[in-house]
This record gives sequence, structure tokens and C-alpha cells, in this order.
Amino acid sequence: MMFSLEMYNKVLVTGGSGFVGKSIQRLRPNWIYMSSKDCDITDKDSFYEYLLEVKPDAIIHLAARVGGIKEAAQNQGEFLYLNTLINLNIIHQAHKAGIKRVLSCLSTCCFPDISDSYPMTEEDLMRGEPTKTNYGYAYAKRVLYLQSKYYSDSHGVIYNTFTPSNIYGMENCFDSDKSHFVSSMVRKFYDAKDGDTITFWGSGRPLRQHLYVNDLADIVVKLLHLHETNLPLIVSPDENLSIKEHIDICKNIVNKDIKISYNGHLDGQFRKDASNKRLLDLLGGYNFTPFEDGLRHTLEWYKKHREEK
Ligand code: NAP
Repeated sequence: MMFSLEMYNKVLVTGGSGFVGKSIQRLRPNWIYMSSKDCDITDKDSFYEYLLEVKPDAIIHLAARVGGIKEAAQNQGEFLYLNTLINLNIIHQAHKAGIKRVLSCLSTCCFPDISDSYPMTEEDLMRGEPTKTNYGYAYAKRVLYLQSKYYSDSHGVIYNTFTPSNIYGMENCFDSDKSHFVSSMVRKFYDAKDGDTITFWGSGRPLRQHLYVNDLADIVVKLLHLHETNLPLIVSPDENLSIKEHIDICKNIVNKDIKISYNGHLDGQFRKDASNKRLLDLLGGYNFTPFEDGLRHTLEWYKKHREEK
């Protein structure tokens, strides 16, 4: 079945107050953006009541307990508990409320820690154990994938998923304890003065595909109408850079006299590069923002944001 772009008019975005949600809101301001203040999704009855009140005809599900590598590693139980509850309630209560379309967000963190071949594809999602430091978060996402598939198989609905790689950009969390790598790097370079040394975790060797949040928002809006299968469609750019390469690019842009060191601890997963072939086939190609360009925009946004504070 092909959908017209007008097919879903009243779209509810869970996690609408978050980093990715705000980016979609810039593109589709008339959709409904919910936060935990509107409704706590871990409470199934409240969420069901909320759905009956709002009556969306489609849901983009982003809400999650998200955090950087250290936070996720130190709070595995909480990440598993909250994310599993949120995801189970989204799918089951949406079905109960008669909503036919739910597009949910996974993460390449769900992929196996080590794969036989790279880049990984959609078929690899469930093939091996996720990286140990991210077990709780990863298994909650894997269950979301399965539940979406089972409900689609049984109930004649289109509940499916997409799988973004690491995301960066404006409106991200830049706090020191909670931030992901790129926002932490941006903050460190902004704060550093000539002659300083900046220390990063790990060895600088792991590889990451960093996806610019505006690209993701644009793609998610398209996928709501175009993605019809059970595939956990991978959304990742072609660039797969080492942590050190990311840092070198940032250092060149910022142009301060700064030394870099690595503490050798907490590298995280060594690589998880995932293929965007299926996505490109579906969209008929896509020009991803090069990391250097996206990082320039992010640095500019952060500078303005800090100066306004
Ligand atoms: P975020 O900025 O931390 O936002 C999380 C959102 O979820 C917020 O709107 C939050 O509402 C909402 N939320 C959390 N618990 C809730 C609850 N119990 N009830 C209702 N709403 C709740 O997260 P993000 O970075 O935008 O992530 C969006 C999605 O992308 C997530 O599914 C995440 O797993 C996925 N993802 C992220 C990355 C990344 O690098 N950031 C990479 C791959 C995939 P409040 O504002 O009220 O707390």
C-alpha cells in the first residue's frame, strides 16, 4: 500500500520535548509534542486516557530514558525498567485505542557488540549480545522491535521501527554528566583556553557514524508515510569516523592551541557501523550533512546559547 503525504494529519510525537522531538517540531510545528509533564507513559491507564483525549491518527514514538555511555552503564536496571515499561505501554495502549500507525525509534546501540561482517544490516539487530555497558537500554529497544512486529502481524496495523546511529546537533544535552560524545566534545572545546589540555575517555580508536539531528528529523517525517515493512530500518550516514578523527575536526574548526589526551578507560563498543542501503533505496537517495558541516552548526548554536545564558 502506498500512502499519500496527507494520510496522517494528527500526529502525536512522544518525547516531543527532547532533543530529536524538538528537531521534528521545527519541521512540523502543527503536530502534537508530548513530554512527561503531559502524561507519564509508564502509567498505562493515564497513557490510554491521554490517547482517547488527543485521538491521534499516528504516533511517532521517541520517548525514552536516554543517557551517555557512563550514565547508561551505571543505571542498567533503571534503563531497562523504564524503557521497557514505556515501550510496552506505547504499543499496547495505541492498539487498544485503535491507532493504526506507530513508528518507533530504536538505536544502533541494540546491535550486537561484535558482528561477523560490517557494516551491519537490519538482519543483524537480534543476532548477538549487545555491548555489556548498554544491555538494559538495548534489550528494551529489542523488545520494542519485536512487539511492533508481532502487533503488525496479528492486528492489521502498521507498527514498525527505525534505527538511528549516534545523533548530534543543536538542543542536545550538553551537561557534563549526561552528555553524549559530540556534545561533551563541543562543551570541552568551548570552555578550553589556549595552552590547555583536554582529556577524553577511552583510546580515541572506536568508530562512530554520527547523524546530524536535522537530517534525522527530515527522514523520520518521510518514513512515517513511506516505511511500511517490519524492517528496523537503519538511519545512518556513510561517514564512519574514529573518535580521534571527530576530535581532530573539532580542533581544526575551533582553532585554539589545545593539547589532546585520552584516559584509556570506557571506550564503549568498538564499532557498530550499520548500512543505510535499504534507507537509500526507499528514499531514492539522501544527501547526509557531512560531519564537519553539522559540527560547525552545532558549535555556532552552542556558542550563541552559552552567550545568551
Ligand atoms: P531526550 O532528549 O532525552 O528526550 C527524551 C524524551 O522522552 C523527553 O521528551 C522526555 O520528556 C520523554 N520521556 C522520558 N520518560 C518519559 C515518560 N515516562 N513519559 C513520557 N515521556 C517521557 O532523548 P533524545 O536524545 O531526543 O532521544 C529520542 C529517541 O532517539 C529515543 O528513543 C532514543 O533512544 C533514540 N536515540 C537517541 C540517540 C542519541 O544519540 N541521542 C541515538 C540513537 C537513538 P521530559 O522532557 O518531560 O523528560
